[in-house]
Order: sequence, then C-alpha cells, then structure tokens
Amino acid sequence: LPVLDVIIIGAGPIGIACALECKKHHWNYLVLEKGTLTNSLYNYPLNMTFFSTSEKLEIDDIPFISNNPKPTRNEALEYYRRVTTSNNLNIRLYEGVKSLQKESQHFIIESSKQHYKGRKVIIATGFYDIPNQLEVPGEHLPKVVHYYKEAHPFVLQDVVVVGASNSAVDAALDIYRKGGNVTMIVRGAEIGPRVKYWVRPDIINRIAEGSIKAYFNSELTEITEDYVKVNTSKGPLELKNDFVVALTGYRPNFKFLEDAGITFSKDEKHIPIYDSETMESNVEGLYLAGVICGGMETHKWFIENSRIHAKQIAKHIYTQLSR
Ligand code: FAD
Repeated sequence: LPVLDVIIIGAGPIGIACALECKKHHWNYLVLEKGTLTNSLYNYPLNMTFFSTSEKLEIDDIPFISNNPKPTRNEALEYYRRVTTSNNLNIRLYEGVKSLQKESQHFIIESSKQHYKGRKVIIATGFYDIPNQLEVPGEHLPKVVHYYKEAHPFVLQDVVVVGASNSAVDAALDIYRKGGNVTMIVRGAEIGPRVKYWVRPDIINRIAEGSIKAYFNSELTEITEDYVKVNTSKGPLELKNDFVVALTGYRPNFKFLEDAGITFSKDEKHIPIYDSETMESNVEGLYLAGVICGGMETHKWFIENSRIHAKQIAKHIYTQLSR
C-alpha cells in the first residue's frame, strides 16, 4: 500500500478545513466521507437557518457571502461545495471508514471499498449519525422520525414533537404554521435555555396562547399506531396521534472511537481524551477535530469554535512530519 501523509475521516466543515491545511502544506492527503459532501448539513431541515452569522462559518478565511443576517442551509451547502471544488480537494465520497488500526508507525484504514495506509489520521466524524433513542415500545414504527426535513407531510395530522431544544422548537413551530396539530412532550420544566434567542419568545407565546400544546416534566412511555401514552406531572395520559417527531439529540459513534484505541473521561460526559493544544488523542498520530471532541456534550463545539482545530493539528503534524 502507498503511504499517505494524512487521512481525514469525515467531510463536514471541519474535515474540509483540515483538507485545506494539508493542501497548503503540500502533504499527500485524502478525505474519506461516508455520505455526500457535508452530509450532516445536507440532512438538516430544508429551511433551516444557522444560529451563526456567515463569517463565523467561514473556514481558512475564505469569504462566505450571505444575503441574510443568518445564512440558510442552502447557502452553507453552496459555500462548502465551492470551497471544496475551487480548491480541488482530494475527497472520496460515499466511502465510509469501517475501522482503523495502528501498526507500528502507520495506521491501516479499512473503508467500504479498500484499505489505505497513513502516517497521521484525523477523525472529524461529528455526531449527527446516531440519534438518542427514546427507548419506549413502538419507537420503531414508521410514524416515528428522528430527523426533521419539512412540514408538509404533517399537515392536518396530530403530531407529537419530543424535546425542547433548537431542533424540536423549530420543528414544532414549522409544523404548527403549516397546519399540523402539535403537542410537545418535554422532559424538563421549560423550553431549552439554549434555544435561539429570537425564536424562544415565539414558542413560549404559542404555548401560552394554546396554539401549540405542551406537557412539561413529562415523558412518552409508549407509541402505538393511533395513540401515544405520556407520563405527565399530573398523571398518565393517552393522546390520539399520527406522527412522532423525536428530536432528543444525537451522539458521536463512541464504538468507532473506542475501537481505534481512544479513551474517554470517566464521567457521564464521555469526552474523548486529547491534548487541547495539538488535538492529538491518547493514540499517537491520531487526531480529533470538530464537534466530535465534545463527547456527550454535543452543544459545546460548533463550527465557529472548532474550525481552529484544523490549524492546531496542521501545526503539530508539521513538526512531526518534518522530523
Ligand atoms: P459534521 O458536519 O457532522 O461532519 C462529519 C462528517 O463525517 C459527516 O459528513 C459524516 O457523514 C462523516 N462521517 C461520519 N462517520 C464516518 C465514517 N465512519 N467514515 C467516513 N465519514 C464519516 N453549528 C454552528 O456552528 N452553527 C449553527 O448554526 C449550527 N446549527 C446546527 C443546527 C442543527 C440542526 C444541528 C444538528 C447542528 C448545528 N450546528 C451548528 C452544529 C453543526 O452540525 C456542527 O457545528 C458542524 O456540522 C460540525 O462540523 P464537523 O465537521 O465537526 O461535523
């Protein structure tokens, strides 16, 4: 096998930022991506608006021009596409990495298509592939979804939205405005404190006026074809129901990291171990970049504060490869 200098796993915004650094250093690099380019962004709701302004989503200071104060999903897809194509980045799409193993000084990577050998590996796989499960009977019925795309399928339907963070609130408002009958089931006592500050009053007022029903301190206990069962603070309840939109967060693929030899903090946050200056994990030559670094704290990292990882890693790899 030919030996590559750097193999990057994941072509999200941060994987792309890492590829730009490799290109600038004239390293022999390759990005492997299991889906399409920026697969997570592609799977966001169709009319999603970022909470970040466009300059905060820029990588390597390449200007991101948006016509809106907060860019849309489509604008972000256009931006990362253009950055990739105009820089001719070496990316193989629809080629997921199944495993990686260290063999003396090299890493052997097994993708869905072939094997590769690399001196350094950067894992930038994000957290959007594995939804947190509700773990209730009926969760696997086709009427239950963990990703929200658009409101149209829910018009004139009884829809339960589970969760109270940004994704859940955006979906609840969208479905209500397009003619769905929305009930929110919220485990906590209030709408999430991190909900976009310009959206929070909207959802609170819709709930107060009764346009959207909400049960706080409540949990779904069962889903059937026609009903859902809910444990509320005032006792159990049965609601007529057509669809469940479960937006209770996502988590990194911990097994993938574990199998690669990465260790974690012992607490419930399950944060992978890495050096915050070099982003090198406990496995020498294996780096972590982007939102994967947060473990279960998926709100901690985003594009704005993790794009810097690409330069931190490149700086360290430079000292290593030129030794
Ligand atoms: P990702 O974008 O998730 O990229 C990881 C890539 O790795 C994916 O393309 C995935 O397909 C690929 N991959 C995974 N496993 C493998 C494998 N085994 N082999 C090959 N490829 C693999 N952040 C902001 O900064 N601003 C916002 O406004 C914002 N809004 C958000 C809204 C929503 C609804 C969500 C869910 C997140 C939002 N975020 C926002 C967070 C945002 O998703 C991340 O900041 C950003 O996508 C992180 O980039 P990343 O490159 O680290 O990970």
